[in-house]
Amino acid sequence: MGSLKDALLKVGIKETPKPSAPNQREKLKKKQVTEVVVHQEQRNFCENCDQVRPDVELYKHRNPTTEAEWICVRCADQLQIADTFRKTAQSDTSIRKMFRREYGATLSPNDIKSPVKTDKPKGPVNGNR
Ligand SMILES: [Zn+2]
Repeated sequence: MGSLKDALLKVGIKETPKPSAPNQREKLKKKQVTEVVVHQEQRNFCENCDQVRPDVELYKHRNPTTEAEWICVRCADQLQIADTFRKTAQSDTSIRKMFRREYGATLSPNDIKSPVKTDKPKGPVNGNR
């Protein structure tokens, strides 16, 4: 009993809390990177009205009156861009399932193949804010 512990202490095993510290730092770094990436992926700036809005999505439309593609719901309705041109469901409003178009029908998020957001749920990273 205890002889192994004593032996370990003599060898200096006790002074090895060092490996745990780098591990923790690595975890923190990874989390920060993930957050930055998420920020880059999510866009909330409407190119049509030049405002930050929670319901901006990508529309690959053919409306000649605007070259904007990242457009908020209000502008999309005003421009009469059908929701069938919408390519993303990345906005906060979409994530909260409160996205709704007044012009025409609103697509279900399952009908949108998003090129921006990955299909895999990222777990706690995109949790409720
Ligand atoms: Zn807008």
